[in-house]
Amino acid sequence: MAYIPKQYASLERGYREQALKLFPWVCGRCTREFVYSNLRELTVHHIDHDHSNNPADGSNWELLCLYCHDHEHSKYTEAKQYGSTVKAGEDLEREQATHNPFADLKARMAKGK
Ligand SMILES: [Zn+2]
Ligand SMILES: [Zn+2]
Repeated sequence: MAYIPKQYASLERGYREQALKLFPWVCGRCTREFVYSNLRELTVHHIDHDHSNNPADGSNWELLCLYCHDHEHSKYTEAKQYGSTVKAGEDLEREQATHNPFADLKARMAKGK
């Protein structure tokens, strides 16, 4: 498990509470709805990936379920690797529009041989 700084829990609680007050309890990607009993699985994503950037109007937050949040971060890492210069927010929208689930199928099949 990754190292989590001591104050992280209180930091997270601070903006998480604010975000949960601002936004409906719905995942921004898969639109799964949340209630009190499973609210733990709804997380606050930072659109610019800067956890210290927490504007009170929520413009840097997005509520995502654990799965979509994970996916969001792996996507960001990939974009970085390929040297993309677009900002995270713009990148996401463009990727959604052009996303092809079979894009890597060929590569995966080749590996399987
Ligand atoms: Zn989701
Ligand atoms: Zn995130």
